[in-house]
Amino acid sequence: MTAGDVADQMERLNDEVEHCTRCELHCNTTHGVPGEGPFDASIMLVGEGPGFNEDKQGRPFVGAAGRFLEELLAVAGLTRRKVYITNVVKHRPPNNRDPQPHELAACRPYLERQIALIRPRVVVTLGRHSLGTFCPGTMISKVHGQVHEQSGRHLFHLYHPAAALHQERLRQTLLDDMSTLADFLRREPDGLEHDHAERADLDSDSPEQLSLF
Ligand code: URA
Repeated sequence: MTAGDVADQMERLNDEVEHCTRCELHCNTTHGVPGEGPFDASIMLVGEGPGFNEDKQGRPFVGAAGRFLEELLAVAGLTRRKVYITNVVKHRPPNNRDPQPHELAACRPYLERQIALIRPRVVVTLGRHSLGTFCPGTMISKVHGQVHEQSGRHLFHLYHPAAALHQERLRQTLLDDMSTLADFLRREPDGLEHDHAERADLDSDSPEQLSLF
């Protein structure tokens, strides 16, 4: 698939998200929030769902949690322009409540398509709902700060940045875990810079097998 094909498909996906009615989450929202970042990003961050500011702007992580996320990215020498950022649900849950299982299921095909198109080498889950989407039944307290392989990709798990806004002790945990990710990325420079052509050579899996799920 050419970079142009990827861009076309991402544009179509973004439009579908904006008009999505697969579950009731779209009711009373201003925008769908598909995600943003380079379509050839090697690192994809997957949060929970849009909040108030994200819903208003149609962009992920633009509020207080987003500012802390940018601080965390800086620990690994990254900026948000270098990574693709999305969420497990693309419309804001009312009053920022937890996404329900049927909402996660309804939204999952969008995430699967984003992963298949972007083909990130590292997926960073942010918080327990994102972790649960990739590794059902796994407790975040047991796996945060750890890398493991899944479907030919590296998964790395972080607490949700918003958790640190409410629990000060998690702030340092997140910073420490991010340093671990920075070390990993330094050891695995492959994870940082690849265009789609290079990755197509390296990754001989079929598109179906590329899905993380
Ligand atoms: N929290 C999330 O999980 N995602 C966002 O986009 C913003 C806050």
